[in-house]
Amino acid sequence: MEIESIKAKLYDFFCKETGVISYDCALDPRNSGEIVGLLHMGRISLLEYSDMNAELRDEPLSDTILFDAVSFNPDECLMDRLVIPTGTVLRVSIFAEKDHTWSIEERNLVKGFILIMITLKSRLKMKEFIDYAMFHEMELGLHNSFYLNRMMTMIEKLDKLHEYSIIFFNLVNLTGVNYLLGRKGADRIIIQFIDVIEELLENPECVCRMGGDNFCILARQEKTGLLLDVLKGMHFNCDSMGTKRIKLGAYSGVYKCTGAEKSFSECIDNALATMLIAKNEKHVQVQYYDESMLVMVNETRRVESAFKNALKNGEFLVYYQPKVDLANFRLVGAEALCRWDRNSVIVMPDSFIPILEKSTRICKLDFFVLETVCRDLRSWIDSGKKPVPVSVNFSRKHLSNSDLVEQITEVVDRYRIPHSYIMIEVTETTNESDSRRLNETVEELAANKFEVSVDDFGSGYSSMSIIKDISFKEIKIDRSFLNNKNVRRNDMIMMKHIISMARDLGLAAIAEGVETMAHVELLKQYGCFYGQGYLFDKPLPKEFFEKVLDSPYYKNVDPANGKDYLIPSTGEFDDIQF
Ligand code: C2E
Ligand code: MG
Ligand code: MG
Repeated sequence: MEIESIKAKLYDFFCKETGVISYDCALDPRNSGEIVGLLHMGRISLLEYSDMNAELRDEPLSDTILFDAVSFNPDECLMDRLVIPTGTVLRVSIFAEKDHTWSIEERNLVKGFILIMITLKSRLKMKEFIDYAMFHEMELGLHNSFYLNRMMTMIEKLDKLHEYSIIFFNLVNLTGVNYLLGRKGADRIIIQFIDVIEELLENPECVCRMGGDNFCILARQEKTGLLLDVLKGMHFNCDSMGTKRIKLGAYSGVYKCTGAEKSFSECIDNALATMLIAKNEKHVQVQYYDESMLVMVNETRRVESAFKNALKNGEFLVYYQPKVDLANFRLVGAEALCRWDRNSVIVMPDSFIPILEKSTRICKLDFFVLETVCRDLRSWIDSGKKPVPVSVNFSRKHLSNSDLVEQITEVVDRYRIPHSYIMIEVTETTNESDSRRLNETVEELAANKFEVSVDDFGSGYSSMSIIKDISFKEIKIDRSFLNNKNVRRNDMIMMKHIISMARDLGLAAIAEGVETMAHVELLKQYGCFYGQGYLFDKPLPKEFFEKVLDSPYYKNVDPANGKDYLIPSTGEFDDIQF
């Protein structure tokens, strides 16, 4: 072989294998004097073993012939090996040309060459390994969050981030898949799923594992629809025969990058929070980012995490709103309503009850209110006041508790309160199995001499059947019927029929939201004799309500026309809105 072509070949593989572009002058093919010993090489081979055991068994990961002359002398071989920190063993062997025996000078030259070769090769391997370890997770070998960051950095440098979306996704029921297929089987399916996604992506788009069953896709915005179709679910064969198939899909949160975000993690966090809303709040598979939704979620988290301590620290307060007989404006009862004293700001229930109702926290709160009401009733009885029955709101969340009535009874009896002094307010339910359970609970409460009222009647969907089938004592007409000063015609008609229906079914009717004397007149005209509303009083703290107990008539004389005129009994008090 031509000397120049051998030099060029050596030069080529040396650079390719070691990753260097400028190399030691000893190997410079232009420096022909120094390379002369290498001209008698017959073969250069590079073996790679995964570890020393594999080397002992002589089971190489790869066996590469880097240089091959027409023939070589198998007995004239120089070899060196190196164990690199990843555990991989590299072995370089150089055989002399057929019929050639190396001189001492040549041997030294070849040994030097092997040493440089193997050192540079191991350095390249280490770099590859570090790159791999930095940008992949170790379990499945998928790209990790550092890789996502790297890609986003590249895109940002091109000022193109606003053309990309982040899709954060969480695999549905991975625990179930693990259970069904075992860990290894599940891993195989996940890798297949990610492969399908990867096929739709091109550099610098990527799909990365963020930990556990959470993944992130960075992709051009116009690809979002296509990717979401895959994420909604795909079927995979569990075995080579295809007899068992499994569907794998995900909950996804989509955030369209604007390029104005303060950091990449802002984009990723927004997509993550959006995915969590899809999964936990809305129970839908796909959700697009919406800022107001995040505000709500953050508030939910704040309330839920503060609740336990707030209850322990006595931050929840019980207010009482009078129920009044519209014929003589006499106090006939009260509704216990909760407030939250959060750092000296009184927070209204609309800001926290719907959040607490998402979990069983509401049940703890309702029992706290019941207990406070019983304690207050006991103190009024003991101090010689004449108390009135108090209604306590109980969330529908209690329906799954089969010991509910027993627990209510235990609290009330502990304070030695006659059961007729406690009324339970429940809202309507739209769900059939809930209705059945509600029916059983109301029956059980009635058997224990507790009366039950349907709250916000007329605001839901199942109003009519609920009062037909369940033995309530009272219906509370939703305050939306009296929403306006001038009650709307349709509301009037509805209210009139609800009241007459209640009367025919033998139920008491009470109207919420009574704000004007015109409301009182209208209700009386329709045959509704009880009311609760701001005309009389807003919900009052215990001390203010005690004044109403002491002087239970809302009656005064209007000095202008001498007619009966109502004034709130505790005019000093006003709710502070949060
Ligand atoms: P609700 O049980 O229907 O209570 C009546 C609501 O109407 C109270 O609002 C009361 O302040 C308001 N209201 C009464 N009269 C008038 C009026 O004339 N005009 C107007 N605009 N509003 C009037 P609040 O206290 O803000 O309570 C809101 C809801 O929060 C309650 O509605 C109830 O569903 C829930 N809630 C309050 N405390 C508790 C509790 O301890 N447990 C449960 N589960 N829910 C509670
Ligand atoms: Mg109520
Ligand atoms: Mg109500």
